[in-house]
Amino acid sequence: MSYDVIIVGAGPGGIFAAYELTKENDGLSVAVFDAGHALEKRICPIDGDKIKSCINCKTCSIMSGFGGAGAFSDGKYNITNDFGGSLHEHIGKQKAIELMTYVDEINMKYGGKGTKIYSTAGTQLKKICLQNKLNLLDAKVRHLGTDKNSVVLKNLYDLLKDKVSFYFDTPVMDVKSIGNGFSVVTQDDKFTCKQCIISVGRSGSNWMEKLCKKLKIPTKSNRVDIGARVELPAEIFSTLTDELYESKIVYRTEKFEDYVRTFCMNPNGIVVNENTNGIVTVNGHSYDDASYKTKNTNFALLVSKHFSEPFKDSNGYAESIARLSNMLGGGVIVQRFGDLMRGRRSTEKRIEENTTIPTLAATPGDLSLVLPKRILDGIIEMIYALDKVAPGTANDDTLLYGVEVKFYNMEVSIDDNLETKLKGLYVIGDGSGVTHSLSHASASGIFVARRILSQR
Ligand SMILES: Cc1cc2nc3c(=O)[nH]c(=O)nc-3n(C[C@H](O)[C@H](O)[C@H](O)COP(=O)(O)OP(=O)(O)OC[C@H]3O[C@@H](n4cnc5c(N)ncnc54)[C@H](O)[C@@H]3O)c2cc1C
Repeated sequence: MSYDVIIVGAGPGGIFAAYELTKENDGLSVAVFDAGHALEKRICPIDGDKIKSCINCKTCSIMSGFGGAGAFSDGKYNITNDFGGSLHEHIGKQKAIELMTYVDEINMKYGGKGTKIYSTAGTQLKKICLQNKLNLLDAKVRHLGTDKNSVVLKNLYDLLKDKVSFYFDTPVMDVKSIGNGFSVVTQDDKFTCKQCIISVGRSGSNWMEKLCKKLKIPTKSNRVDIGARVELPAEIFSTLTDELYESKIVYRTEKFEDYVRTFCMNPNGIVVNENTNGIVTVNGHSYDDASYKTKNTNFALLVSKHFSEPFKDSNGYAESIARLSNMLGGGVIVQRFGDLMRGRRSTEKRIEENTTIPTLAATPGDLSLVLPKRILDGIIEMIYALDKVAPGTANDDTLLYGVEVKFYNMEVSIDDNLETKLKGLYVIGDGSGVTHSLSHASASGIFVARRILSQR
């Protein structure tokens, strides 16, 4: 029950920390706890037939378990400091890119070989975007695809299972500072460790907040991104997706000078529900395997909302908006762009008659009753701006799903070693508020593992 290192959370942050800590087999005892299931037991009950929408499972298989929120993701590993988190502000730009590249090498070694890497370097699309007031951000992106991503995760688990003690379906209730280490408390047991890495991601955000309060670790929370997921025929966006796969495009609105950005682009993908702490929002992913590809592309359009004092609960604000959509639609709402612009709700009939067939069974409704005007205006402006580089984006039959929320975990006060004021207690990945992506979360795990190893 006593380990050198305990990792709380088996998402990319936790997995890559465990990988690096045990790579050289130098006798370090490591345990990983996760509230969710082992990889093979992670099955979302939504089958689109008997169960059409989220039934609020005790632990969400999309968000929790080995692989974390990333397990059924599109597996897009963006190698960039321009988005995906601010890890570089702690460890430096060069180190961050070096670690993200190292993570990519590991992914290739454990099953990702043959997948494509896309880059914005030298693309003509940058100029075309700029001519239309759209700013295409620089990045390299490895697209593993949901299927290959699972293969990599399975291979990593097979590698780690003999070196690391895994505890699945075991939420950590508390972490206490004791003498020269930590006590990690679960429902039934107590474990101790010399060093503790917390990597609880978005699903662990509430728990993380409580723990920080209890351990008197300062936090701040002032940002949230709110918007909708757009779904349209893949041909419309193929100019961008064929060359770049995922393009991160930022638009500054004329009306309010707000920034709207594209996020999580899934060519030939599917739109899915996401359940965070009982609130159902929308997300998307796509498969690398051609047989799973759909005819649609989806991506989110998000508006960043930064709050100033005295308001501190940015996630609470977004949760209220998401709850409103859950109240009206029983989950996620879908609306045709044409209906939105005509000021009317979408109905079952209008969705049935739509030429773009939705890939998620959401409730037809009216997003203007849910999204704040300023945010909705920004999304509409950006759809018209995108229509200039990808004509057809503003078609009546384009679908909008809402709401999509990008919750930013509150930022935990950590130093440049990603260590809290309690020596030996590290907070990494999305749970730290520093990273918001697979590549940054994974790189943060490697970084802390190397730091721990360097102190031995
Ligand atoms: C549908 C979907 C698609 C996505 N697509 C992409 C993409 O293509 N590219 C990209 O860069 N990002 C994507 N993301 C985001 C990406 O998955 C996350 O940024 C990444 O997984 C963060 O890794 P993490 O290790 O910090 O946390 P997570 O992956 O969230 O893992 C945290 C783990 O901690 C566990 N946990 C939480 N609380 C506790 C507790 N108290 N005790 C024990 N365990 C606990 C959870 O069960 C979970 O397994 C997507 C997310 C979703 C949901």
